[in-house]
Amino acid sequence: MKLIRIGSPDNERPGVITTQGTWIDVSAFGEDYDSTFLSNNGIQRLRAWLREHEASCPVVAPIERLGPPVSQVSKIVCVGLNYAQHAKESGMEVPSEPVLFFKATSALCGPNDDLVIPQGGEKTDWEVELAIVIEKKASYVSEQNAMDYIAGYVLHNDYSERAFQLEQGGQWVKGKSCDTFAPIGPFLACQEEIPDPHNLNLWLTVNGETMQHSSTSDLIFDIPHIVSYISQYMTLLPGDIISTGTPFGVGLGMNPPRYIVPGDIIELGIDGLGRSRQMAKAYEQPSNTQ
Ligand code: MG
Repeated sequence: MKLIRIGSPDNERPGVITTQGTWIDVSAFGEDYDSTFLSNNGIQRLRAWLREHEASCPVVAPIERLGPPVSQVSKIVCVGLNYAQHAKESGMEVPSEPVLFFKATSALCGPNDDLVIPQGGEKTDWEVELAIVIEKKASYVSEQNAMDYIAGYVLHNDYSERAFQLEQGGQWVKGKSCDTFAPIGPFLACQEEIPDPHNLNLWLTVNGETMQHSSTSDLIFDIPHIVSYISQYMTLLPGDIISTGTPFGVGLGMNPPRYIVPGDIIELGIDGLGRSRQMAKAYEQPSNTQ
């Protein structure tokens, strides 16, 4: 099952992409895709409900805006340097344990929303990533059981302002958390859609030129390891997002480095998780509303 959220920002309604590829509105099910839904077997209950009600759900035109396919996310935990060639292009060592950092949830946006280059940002960069959505509370989970805690997977662009991240001291979080820096979707692919998450092609283009093209088979730390590892340090809650790291081909690693400028079109995709597209624009001060 592929879950989508349709409509204007902060006013999205839940939907599903049917096996025929049709977008349908499932508001009549009565629940948004949040932690309550996920932790109360929402995916299974929705699947059962659709057997009875799919035919009567309103069809949605596939030109409507998509929001993030998960609502009220409590945290985004990112894994850094999880592909060897990317660690090398970043001038960093291949880590012996997963490198973790946070990304503010206020950075979340729809998959095709504009990327806003932040005020003072001159080194905004792209990072296509496979992200995991947690289904149930996970604390001190073993690697063997880790997959049982996963609702599914989403496409994520872990946008990064390299000057904020790497040149201004402190933690990476500053360069990872600007508004619009976490477009996710188009849809949440429930686990059964992705039988082998460790064998997916992922790619990213800027203005049609391929920048990243790799496979999740190159992940240094695999998904059970990542979920188990993070759960030793914090409790993962339903709806939490874990982004598993980006492969080789970011702007930072180019010679000379290449960063995003207003008007650039960034497109990305992962096998089985669809594709997304962001247009870059410069930050604008909100108009004075007094
Ligand atoms: Mg990343």
